[in-house]
Parts: sequence; C-alpha cells; structure tokens
Amino acid sequence: MFMGKDCLFCKIIRGEIPSAKIYEDEHSFAFLDINPVNPGHTLLVPKRHFTNLYETSDEILKELAPTIKKLAIAVKKAVSADGINIGMNNDSAAGQLIFHAHFHIIPRRAEDGFKHWRSKRAYKDDEMNMLAKKIKASL
Ligand code: AMP
Ligand code: ZN
Repeated sequence: MFMGKDCLFCKIIRGEIPSAKIYEDEHSFAFLDINPVNPGHTLLVPKRHFTNLYETSDEILKELAPTIKKLAIAVKKAVSADGINIGMNNDSAAGQLIFHAHFHIIPRRAEDGFKHWRSKRAYKDDEMNMLAKKIKASL
C-alpha cells in the first residue's frame, strides 16, 4: 500500500503534484477529480494518510462530515446541479483505485444518464431478516 511518500493524494496535499484545489483546513483537503463524472466532481481527503474508511479514525470522520456537507452545497450552487451524490469506494472490489481514503462529491443533472447500482435485486424468502440479524451481530 502506498503511504506518505509515494501516495498520489499525499503528494497532492503536499503540493508536489498540482491539483485544482477547492478547500483546505487543518484536517482535510479538497480538489477537483481529474476525470469527472460531471464537471465539478470533487474529492475530499483527510490530510493524514488512511487507506480507506475502515482505517480512518472516528475523530477525523467527525471533522470531515460537516466539510462534505459544505462542499456538497458549494458544488451544487457553483455548477447549478440538480442533485449531488456522495460516494466512497473501499477496496478494489468496490472500485477503489487510490488507496488514500476519499469522498467523491458528484454533481448530478436530471438528464445526465448516469446509472448506479443497476443490478439491484429482490431478497428471497427470509434472506433479508437473516442478513439483518447477521449484520447486527457483527457490530
Ligand atoms: P477511486 O476509484 O474512488 O479510488 O477514485 C480515485 C479518483 O481519483 C478517480 O475518480 C480519479 O479520476 C481521481 N484521480 C486520479 N488521479 C488524480 C489526480 N492527479 N488529480 C485529481 N484526481 C485524480
Ligand atoms: Zn496518502
């Protein structure tokens, strides 16, 4: 896993790689995604290197939550979006490419045609209740 020295987002935070910076505070840094789903697609990253959500400290998550909200409102206003998706990919199987935790703030247009979770399906029989129990037991 790329930490500190070699991590792309750590390099962006340190200013060693250029970015279209939007926001910075003690704990977080936000910049435009270089390959946006829609223009204005923003990434918010903790300044400390955490690989993913599971490893991000609760204290930092508490600091980031209001910033996600602030950025969502600002991005929506700036590009006159119809809506905003907040996303986070954790692990390769979920589409994570950069292993420095980050939140995607994605402006949406009513007619942009972007579809996610296309393969939603129904539960069978008692599967839903069984899974709810299993997940509760894992907490
Ligand atoms: P993820 O798949 O959640 O790991 O997303 C990584 C995101 O980082 C992708 O949406 C990329 O387009 C974006 N990205 C990669 N390199 C850069 C860069 N140098 N500057 C800004 N965004 C980047
Ligand atoms: Zn990093």
